[in-house]
Amino acid sequence: MTTIIDNVQLDYSDVLLQPKRTTLNSRKEADIIRTFKFKYYKKALSATGVTVANMATTGTFEMAKTMSKLNAVTCLQKHYSVDEIVEFLKSNDDNSLVFISTGIKDDEFQKTCEILDTGLIDKVCVDIANGYIPNLSQFINKLREKYGNNILIMAGNVVTSDMTQELILNGADLVKIGIGPGSACTTRKITGIGRPQLSAVMECADAAHGMNGMICADGGCTCPGDIVKSYAGGADFVMIGGMFAGSDESAGELIKRDDKELKLFYGMSSGYAQNKHWGKMNKYRASEGRVVEIPYTGPVENTIEEIYGGIRSAMTYIGARRLKDIPKCATFYKVNRQLNEIFAK
Ligand code: 5GP
Repeated sequence: MTTIIDNVQLDYSDVLLQPKRTTLNSRKEADIIRTFKFKYYKKALSATGVTVANMATTGTFEMAKTMSKLNAVTCLQKHYSVDEIVEFLKSNDDNSLVFISTGIKDDEFQKTCEILDTGLIDKVCVDIANGYIPNLSQFINKLREKYGNNILIMAGNVVTSDMTQELILNGADLVKIGIGPGSACTTRKITGIGRPQLSAVMECADAAHGMNGMICADGGCTCPGDIVKSYAGGADFVMIGGMFAGSDESAGELIKRDDKELKLFYGMSSGYAQNKHWGKMNKYRASEGRVVEIPYTGPVENTIEEIYGGIRSAMTYIGARRLKDIPKCATFYKVNRQLNEIFAK
């Protein structure tokens, strides 16, 4: 008989954080830079953990250049050529917060090695929609064998503890968590597969931390509070696409209509992206992403400062002095309604 898991599965919007007695008097006392140490990769990394998604719109060179100065990680989109990437890495002052991205085909392995072998970068995001397929584990294993602890590997996406551990055992330092929560994603609608993001993050973070691994919560953040909730659920890094996609640094086309300024944003599995980046959409695939026009938001620094401000304020509310203390200080209320939206529309 088919099994039903019927313990409650939660999204960010299903919870709020309880304020607590605190020793912090001001948000200035909240330290949002964390020094990460990894299971395999031998170097430490200092950052806020906020990570730009490797989508074609957001994972741009312009984004990486700006975000590197703002202590945020950028995963470059994978459709740049080797020459373009090398040229960028040579021109960027500091590549320590930049990842290249790759799929798991043989030619992508070659391309990844070609870039890593330049010595200009040592971080890779191995990203496929369905992280459960055995070829992902094999790909990571091969990369880890070839480069030992000289590279940082992030891999995904999955939403359960078993597969989080499997990817870590195969060489991932960081497992990317999320199936279907993304703002430009239609996977849940097309396939019926997915898991509410907060519950996925909580379970997978616990599984990863138990073996010195870490997770990057990927998708579903709609406001700074969601990013705080993600950290509170145990995320080490939080990957964001849509919230950065309206910025100057995003590659989405700027559209002026009436008196509105908009930017084009599309899911990487949308028919639009497949035609644009692969030149075709294979017959056996359905589109699992959407194309949307979103409000233009100006320099991405505005958005990230708002996020950082939200994190600092939340830390003051719950008494967390350091970013890594957030989950220890956090208690969630399960709520029926998180916002009063009477004037929102
Ligand atoms: P957001 O921050 O916009 O909610 O989510 C960003 C994440 O959505 C990306 O990092 C990626 O994991 C996911 N994503 C991007 N494009 C697609 C797509 O076309 N289909 C699906 N299923 N997920 C996507």
